[in-house]
Amino acid sequence: MGGVITDRDALLLQTPEAIKARFNIDVLVNTRAEAIDRTAHTVTDLATGAARRLHYDRLVLAPGATPVRPSIPGIEWALTLRNVEDADALAAAAQQARTDAVTGGGFIGLEVAENLVRKGLQVALVEATDQVLAPLDPEMATPARRAALGRGRPAPGVRGHRHR
Ligand SMILES: Cc1cc2nc3c(=O)[nH]c(=O)nc-3n(C[C@H](O)[C@H](O)[C@H](O)COP(=O)(O)OP(=O)(O)OC[C@H]3O[C@@H](n4cnc5c(N)ncnc54)[C@H](O)[C@@H]3O)c2cc1C
Repeated sequence: MGGVITDRDALLLQTPEAIKARFNIDVLVNTRAEAIDRTAHTVTDLATGAARRLHYDRLVLAPGATPVRPSIPGIEWALTLRNVEDADALAAAAQQARTDAVTGGGFIGLEVAENLVRKGLQVALVEATDQVLAPLDPEMATPARRAALGRGRPAPGVRGHRHR
């Protein structure tokens, strides 16, 4: 399993100033693209209005993804991990818990499970398919599964759960 980042600041790698200095790119933080005018070739942050109307020649949309929340009973209580704020919420919740179930045996699910085990929790990792790390061949995923089983123990009453 991978190394653990113990310093929260180490997760925050760049600043607008650093990107400007290195790449000459203007980074506008706290600015949300809320409207696109394809005729005028502008993007607007409606919260700040015309003051943030940006002209473009070509527009690239790269707004990222959101975690899949499977439609299973109780999902409203589940936490997801996508950004540093989510990691803060997970760490705070872990302090109140003794057992934890992680749904999704991909890279992120395994890393979350590993970190929870390191915090002393009893962790069950729930994966819909028959192997962890789905993009990998079984020959490569099996050692990761063995390593995970060596670190955590199944939580009481939690067994494999298929949600597909
Ligand atoms: C816990 C975790 C660990 C990971 N670890 C690794 C790793 O070790 N190595 C690796 O290669 N990858 C890792 N990844 C995956 C990697 O973070 C993603 O693949 C990558 O962030 C995707 O980049 P992106 O630019 O498509 O989306 P994002 O990084 O999500 O960026 C999209 C940005 O667009 C902004 N945005 C959305 N809508 C608007 C709007 N209307 N106006 C303005 N801004 C908007 C969002 O706020 C966000 O900042 C990890 C992911 C997670 C969740």
